[in-house]
Amino acid sequence: MRFIETWIPSTLVSIRDLAPGIREFLIKPDRFDVTGYPVGSHINVSVNVGGQPETRSYSLVGEASPDGFKIAVRRADDSRGGSRYMWSLQPGARLDITQPASLLAVDWSREKYCLIAGGIGITPILGAAQALARRGADVVLHYAVRSRGEAAYLDELAATLGDRLVVHAGDEGRRLDLDGLFASLPQGTLALFCGPMRMLDAARHAWIEAGHPLPDLRYETFGSSGTLPTETFRVRLRDSDVELEIPRERSMLDVLNATGHEVLFDCKRGECGLCAIDVVAVDGQIDHRDVFFSDHEKQSNHKICACVSRARGTITVDTLLRADAV
Ligand SMILES: Cc1cc2nc3c(=O)[nH]c(=O)nc-3n(C[C@H](O)[C@H](O)[C@H](O)COP(=O)(O)OP(=O)(O)OC[C@H]3O[C@@H](n4cnc5c(N)ncnc54)[C@H](O)[C@@H]3O)c2cc1C
Repeated sequence: MRFIETWIPSTLVSIRDLAPGIREFLIKPDRFDVTGYPVGSHINVSVNVGGQPETRSYSLVGEASPDGFKIAVRRADDSRGGSRYMWSLQPGARLDITQPASLLAVDWSREKYCLIAGGIGITPILGAAQALARRGADVVLHYAVRSRGEAAYLDELAATLGDRLVVHAGDEGRRLDLDGLFASLPQGTLALFCGPMRMLDAARHAWIEAGHPLPDLRYETFGSSGTLPTETFRVRLRDSDVELEIPRERSMLDVLNATGHEVLFDCKRGECGLCAIDVVAVDGQIDHRDVFFSDHEKQSNHKICACVSRARGTITVDTLLRADAV
């Protein structure tokens, strides 16, 4: 069960390859209202994965433009196929999208801003960099990439930020030292982060360690591939004979709902916590892939976000669905 999403029929206007494995898409809704959208906004796109409609979110790149919505998609080869579907589209293709929504609240009144992007996490950060530079704000962007050749939007960022763009390219041995960086920032700095989950975990720890208030680190992450490999695991339902197999390419949430064990959900990204269910026993290991629970809650293994988190072995859960309550 999910809250209703309003889909807007749209056309793919053009595509542009930005780097190996990163492609930009310009999408124009049939009825396009060019009012701006908050920095850090994303749209949902209806994709086709294995013949089934699925939703994937993509951050809007840069500030609003009358040409349409610009997104950039990294092709994830070891995946269920949402990004591969996007890459199969050619200009003129029809697709359904949602209105922009933002998860990254920016407070424009700070004296200093620190932007941090890891890889494809540059997409929501680019618009923030443009907006802050336009306002004359004191802003520096730290962009961590494997190599400059694999980095998207380097020219645009250099033009906008000049020497306030610091590229940390792994192949040049320039690792981003989050501890050192955050320790050097004055209190009151607002940090905006978008990057992989492990980098986010490191950023949160470094931010707290440096004595900054956690609400001053605003972040978005694109979903996690977890700390364990994505593999098949089993879910037992408490007080029943039901045992379900969760295959590699499906989530626990999808399997529970498809087999009539209804679990409420909304974001499907491990952010809102609506699909959190009770864990009764773990025979193996849980791989928490959400950003909803605290480190402490994750360690206690009392609950799991069924939409993104996975396991190794078998876990026993209680969905709290009771026959007499249906
Ligand atoms: C707010 C937001 C903004 C985003 N913006 C962007 C953006 O600007 N650009 C961009 O490229 N992406 C963005 N994403 C990510 C995007 O929505 C997709 O997740 C991405 O394109 C991968 O989709 P996929 O179906 O190809 O891969 P998925 O199947 O979702 O796999 C992604 C990763 O999870 C692992 N995985 C594989 N199978 C499973 C499984 N069954 N369950 C869980 N994990 C699995 C894979 O190993 C892979 O590393 C954003 C996500 C969010 C939430």
